[in-house]
Amino acid sequence: MTADVSSEFHDLHLTMQLLQTLDNGLVLLDKNYQIHMWNSFMEHHSGISSSDARGKILFDLFPYLPAVWLKRKIQSVFQLGSRSFCTWEEHAHLFNFSSTRPLTGNSARMYQNICLTPLYDTTNQVSGVCLSVYDVTEVATRKIDLEKANERLERLSRTDPLTGLSNRGHWEDSLKLEFERCRRASRASTLLLLDIDKFKSFNDEYGHQAGDEVMRAIGDLVHRFRRSTDVVGRYGGEEFGVILPETTAENAMIFAERLRKRISGTHIVWQSTPLHVTVSIGMSEIRPDMNDYHAWLSATDQALYQAKARGRNQVVNASSLKP
Ligand code: GH3
Ligand code: MG
Ligand code: MG
Repeated sequence: MTADVSSEFHDLHLTMQLLQTLDNGLVLLDKNYQIHMWNSFMEHHSGISSSDARGKILFDLFPYLPAVWLKRKIQSVFQLGSRSFCTWEEHAHLFNFSSTRPLTGNSARMYQNICLTPLYDTTNQVSGVCLSVYDVTEVATRKIDLEKANERLERLSRTDPLTGLSNRGHWEDSLKLEFERCRRASRASTLLLLDIDKFKSFNDEYGHQAGDEVMRAIGDLVHRFRRSTDVVGRYGGEEFGVILPETTAENAMIFAERLRKRISGTHIVWQSTPLHVTVSIGMSEIRPDMNDYHAWLSATDQALYQAKARGRNQVVNASSLKP
C-alpha cells in the first residue's frame, strides 16, 4: 500500500467512525432501495445490526413503511438531484422507533423528521440517496401539548362554567352570524329568550346552591331538547337564548310550547328535595326591517317582558304585540 492510499484509507476509516457518532439516523440507499450503509443510530433504534441491514431492501426490512409515497419521494431525488424533506407533521412516526425519553417526554414513540439527500459519484450522476432520520420527539410533544392547552383555553373562553353552554359573548357571535346569513339569503330564523320565573324567591327559599343546580338542569334540558342546528347559550343570569335557524315563528311556537311544558312538568331532585320551576319565553322571527341583530334581540326581549306581564309560564310571539 502506497503512502497516499494508506492515508486515504485512514481518512475513510475515520469518516465512517464519524458517521457512527451522529445522533441521527443515516441510511445510504441505491435506486433499488438496497441499503449500503446503516449507522449506529439506526442499529440502536431498530434493533437491526449494520451487517444484517446492508444488502437488504429497505421495504423488506420495514414492510409497514408507506411504500408508494416514499418510493416516489426517493425516485424524485434521484431524478431531480435535489433534497427532499418530510416533517413529523406529515408522517409522525415513519420508522416505528421507541422514544428515547418516554418518561420525561409524553410520547412512547419517536417523532421524526426525514431528509433525503442526493449523493453524486465522480461523473456527477446521482448514485445514491442518503435518508436521514432526526429524533424531534421533544419539539413535537411540546408543540402538541401547547396546541391542546390552547384548544382548552379557547373552549373555556367560549363556555359558561355553570351550565357548560356557550357563554353570552360566544352565543351573541353566533346570533350575529345567523342574522347576517339570513339577511343575505332572505331565510326564516327565529330567536327565543327563556327566563326562569320568580327565580329570586326560589333562591331565597331553597338557597343559591339549589338555584345553581336548577340552572344546570334547565340548561341541560334545553340543550338536549334542541335540534342539532339550533344554538343554545346562557344569555344572562337565569336567561337562556336559543337560535332556531330555518324556522318560522309558527314552527318555533310549537317548539317553544313543548319546551315550556317539558320544563314545567320536570322535577329536579336536589339533595332529596324535588325542585320545580317554570319559564317564560319570548320569541321573534327575523324581519327585513331589523337593521342589526340588536333589533332582533330587542324584539324578542319585549315579547319576553310581555310573557312575564301576562302571568309567566307562557310563550309570547313578538308579532302578536302592538307596534
Ligand atoms: P321573573 O319571574 O320576573 O324573572 O323574576 P325573577 O326573580 O326571576 O327575576 P329577577 O331578575 O328579579 O331575578 C333573577 C334572579 O336570578 C336573581 C338572581 O339571584 C338569580 N340568578 C341569576 N343567576 C343565577 C345563578 O347563576 N345562580 C343562581 N342560583 N341564581 C341566579
Ligand atoms: Mg327570572
Ligand atoms: Mg332575568
